[in-house]
Order: sequence, then structure tokens, then C-alpha cells
Amino acid sequence: EPYIPKFVEVNYIEGSNDNKWSSNNFPWTKKLEANNKKVFGNHSFRLNQREVINATMSGYDVFVLMPTGGGKSLTYQLPALICPGVTLVISPLVSLIQDQIMHLLQANIPAAYLSANMEWTEQQEIFRELNSEYCKYKLLYVTPEKVAKSDVLLRQLENLNARQMLARIVIDEAHCVSQWGHDFRPDYQALGILKQKFPNTPVLALTATATASVKEDVVQALGLVNCIVFRQSFNRPNLWYSVIPKTKKCLDDIDKFIKENHYDESGIIYCLSRMDCEKVAERLQECGHKAAFYHGSMDPAQRAFVQKQWSKDEINIICATVAFGMGINKPDVRFVIHHSLPKSIEGYHQECGRAGRDGQRSSCVLYYSYSDYIRVKHMISQGVIEQSPLASGYNRTNTTNSGRVLETNTENLLRMVSYCENDVDCRRILQLIHLGEKFDCTTCKKTCDNCLKIKSFVEKDVTGIAKQLVELVKLTGQQFSSSHILEVYRGSFSQFVKKHRHQTVSLHGVGKHLAKGEASRVLRHLVTEDLLAEEVKKSDVYGSVSSILKVNELKACELFSGRKTILIRFPSSVKASKQKNSEVISAKGSLTSGKQSPPHIGTEQPQSKANSDLS
Ligand code: ADP
Ligand code: MG
Ligand code: ZN
Repeated sequence: EPYIPKFVEVNYIEGSNDNKWSSNNFPWTKKLEANNKKVFGNHSFRLNQREVINATMSGYDVFVLMPTGGGKSLTYQLPALICPGVTLVISPLVSLIQDQIMHLLQANIPAAYLSANMEWTEQQEIFRELNSEYCKYKLLYVTPEKVAKSDVLLRQLENLNARQMLARIVIDEAHCVSQWGHDFRPDYQALGILKQKFPNTPVLALTATATASVKEDVVQALGLVNCIVFRQSFNRPNLWYSVIPKTKKCLDDIDKFIKENHYDESGIIYCLSRMDCEKVAERLQECGHKAAFYHGSMDPAQRAFVQKQWSKDEINIICATVAFGMGINKPDVRFVIHHSLPKSIEGYHQECGRAGRDGQRSSCVLYYSYSDYIRVKHMISQGVIEQSPLASGYNRTNTTNSGRVLETNTENLLRMVSYCENDVDCRRILQLIHLGEKFDCTTCKKTCDNCLKIKSFVEKDVTGIAKQLVELVKLTGQQFSSSHILEVYRGSFSQFVKKHRHQTVSLHGVGKHLAKGEASRVLRHLVTEDLLAEEVKKSDVYGSVSSILKVNELKACELFSGRKTILIRFPSSVKASKQKNSEVISAKGSLTSGKQSPPHIGTEQPQSKANSDLS
């Protein structure tokens, strides 16, 4: 029986380009500005802060996409301060909560938190205060587990609500709701109950990372109604991106890269396993770097010690799993190196985002080999891959829809592979389109490896391939993801292809002869050109979201009538350019003069030097 998903539409409104939210004429504007200065010590608002506050204070459900460090906390702490009642904040980690409470108390804002492993008497005291007529707390922080498991808490909230004292519900790190995200946390899915119980209380969901699918998933799972979405660009102009083929000499390459470009500067090297962290750290120490490792099986005190040493610059390089990075605000991280393939593009974007918070130029280098893909894939399927602290507490074997989770993880990983194997398109475009943002690659100004070598590219007419792909999307009923379409096009006989009898579709295998990655580039280009649309739909069968390709008939007509041709850039010689690039990184630091020119990506000169090195 072919599986035919049933879909439910998801609704939301884009708030970023509606200027009514930036107005200074809301009844609370004066109070807002006074308290922002007086209590929080800020001179002004940052991008979207005022807008988000106005929308949530107007009573709407609001979804905020704002990069880490953008100032999301203020958008609920300030309303909490000036609105009557208590604001409930759901936050994933006790350490993050404690940090927030400390800052609030310093600013004389009464706040408390409840977590599952707190003494009962301590909890009782907080409940007593919540029950009192004039509850002093302005903010109450809880972990998602608490909401999912504590009936006492829910009753308390009902009680507050009945007295009209539940001002607002805030879901921080909201992307943890989604299986599509890289930090899935099942307890977040239980938060939907809050909207059911308190339909009239505005919900504010905040995250620094969400693809279109994740956003839809969150909106749906939390039951947000006519939600207003605020988002801003996730492009980080001061980060320089490159992908380098990973060889056996990878550690030598890393050592050399750091010595030539970032010696004695602060950086993070992300590794796949705990053992890798230790090996990489040891090797770098031998090479004379001040390096240490950090991973999940160290005891907390040890981890805190290493983190502190790094923050104080007693250690320069931290070799870590993705367990490292949460809540870290070191401004002068000059490089983030990925020793192995990240699990997803969102994850990669987040990890790179820890570099250059001070706005200074910083490097993001990823060492890629296909064998790492196999390794990561295996680790994901075994459930042995280390996760960020946000996603911890998630036990794969206990999850009923684990098959579905595995599928989305594999899809995410495949997209990461195609990012790495792409040696043509701007890295920024590739990251941002994945986060639902369109980006003009001329703005990159050659700050990524691919844009840098654009000179040696030729434009190729791929209209024929484009037509076949659009046709194939139609033939298969416009209900499959891009990776499935590509599988069919390249002639796969996988279980999934067989299950849907797609091996009998007339275009099955027509794209067999194409170079790896070529068809996928054409497909992605069709999405950016609006010929195909990637639609996100919620399936009510599995309760999960998938992204499927649909045809834009109007634009497709132009293609089939011959009014539109599709051109994409190809390197004039793929092999040569790929190898050149790998050498640029290691060979050039010495050729570039100090800091005025980008560290690892050079101009023509080092490339030709690298070229001669090869021969
Ligand atoms: P996010 O949660 O988006 O990662 P935070 O809310 O933790 O970011 O804020 C990051 C930092 O920015 C904090 O130190 C905060 O005090 C500061 N900040 C937030 N808003 C402003 C503002 N309007 N003016 C100056 N500093 C701000
Ligand atoms: Mg935050
Ligand atoms: Zn670029």
C-alpha cells in the first residue's frame, strides 16, 4: 500500500515588514523605554526588539527568529516587568535558567524557578508565593520536563490564570520542539497543552535557529494561533567559510592553518566523538598549542574548569563535541574548525556562529571526507552520537516514532553532505536558503571559498535537465522531498523508490549520467528561481512535518514553452579547482600579510602557488 500522507495547513503572519509594530504610540511605549534604560541599562532597542515586545503586548502569539546574542531575553523580561501578573518561561537547561535568574535578581526583578530535581520544601515555598494574593514574582522559569510531568504545576498555573495573573507564556529555544531541528527534545512536544489550557494567554516562542520546516513544526505543536513571525537575516558578514577535503594529514593541516592564521588566538575545534576530541587536543599540544578537550563524559567540575580556562585565554583551543557551546558568549573566538562532518546545516550554522561575536573577521573551516558521512550516519542510527545539552534527555529507544526521527536525521545529514560537495555556489546562499532566507551572492564579496574562485567558471545551459526534473515532480504527484526526487532521477532502486513504484516512472534513471551533485544543484536552483516550491506540510498520520516539492505552474509554463532557459555556473575543470582550494588553506597564511587580507582564502597568487605545489 503506498503511503499517502494527509496534510493540515499551517498559518502564520510575517511581522517583520509590517511597520505598525515599530510605532512609538502604544499605550506602554513610555514605560517601556523608561524601564529599558533604568532597569536594564540599555540605551536603545536592538533590531526587532521593540517590534516583538509591541506584538506580544498586544496579545498576539509571536514567533521570534533572532541570532544568538541578538537580545531575545529582553523581549519577554521587559514586558514581564511592566505587565501585571506572572510570566511563565520554559527554558531547556537549569544552568541557563540560573544564569538568567541571577541577572534578574541583580536588576531587582523578582524571579524564581522550578526544576524536577529541586527539594520539595523549596518547591512548596515557591508554590505558596504563587498562591498568595499579591504574588511578588514577575517571572517563573521552569524546565519542559516540569510542565510535562508535574500536575501540581499545571494546577498552580490554572489557579494563577483564574485570578488573571498568568501574563504570558514564553518558550525559549523553541526549536527543541521539532524533530526536524538538530536539538529535538521530546518534552517540548508536551508544551502544546499550555495553549489548550490557556487559550487566551499570549505565547512568545523564541529561537536562534529554525528552518522553514522547524518553524512550521513549532507553530503547530505549540498550537499557536495567527502567529506573528519576526525574523532577521542570519547572514554573518564577518565569518569566512570554507570546506577542505579531509585527508590523513588533517591534523597537520589544522596545526599549520592555526599557526599561520590564528596563532595564540581563541578557537573551537568540533569533533565527532569523545575520543576524537582527546586525540586532536593531544596532537595540538604536541605541536605547541595551548589546547584542551571538552565532552560529555567528563565530570561537570572538570568541564567547567576547562571552559573557564578557555574563557580566560589560559587555553586557546578547545577540542569539543557539540556538547560545548551553549550559553557561551566569548566575543573574540577567531576560528571554528569542524574536524568532522556536522549533523545538519542548522547545527553547522549555529556552531560557526560562535566565532566572531565581536564583529571581527573570523574563520570557519570544515574538513570533509565522504567516509565521515558513513561514520556519522552509523553513529546516528546507533544513537551513540553526542548531542548538544539542549537535546540531552532525549532517549531514542523510548521514542515511538524513532523511525521517523531517523529519517529526518538522515535527510539533514544528506543536505550537509551536498553542502560540502558543492564547490560552486556561495556558502552563504547554501546555508541561508536552508534557513529559509534568500541571499544575493554578490553581497558575499568573496568571503567564502566558492565565491573566491568564481573566475574560473563557465555558465552551462541546463534547461533540459530542469524540464525533466519539473516533469518528474509532477509525475510523482507533487508529494515527495527533493532527496526522493533526486533518487528517482538518478535511477535508485531503494526500498522507498520501490514502495512507491517509482522505478516504473518514465523518467526513472534519466539523470544517471550526470555528475554527482549536478542534478541536486539544478533542483535547488529551480527552488531559488521559484519554479519549484518547497512546501512544508504537517502529516497527521505521524504527527511530523515533511518538506515536499510542488510545481509553480505559471513559471513552469515559461520553461516548457521555451521562454525561459536555465543557466548555472560550473567550474571549468572541477577536479583542478577542488584541489587548488585544499592547498590554498594550508599554503597561504604565510603568503598573506597579517590581518588585512582574509586568512585562509587568498587571491590568485596563493592559488597559483598552491597549483605549482601540486605538480
Ligand atoms: P539571546 O537570547 O538572543 O542569545 P540575550 O538575550 O542573552 O541574547 O542577550 C545577549 C546580550 O545582549 C546580553 O548581554 C544583553 O544584556 C544584551 N542586550 C540585549 N538587548 C540589548 C539592548 N537593547 N542594548 C544593549 N544590550 C542589549
Ligand atoms: Mg537566549
Ligand atoms: Zn560566497
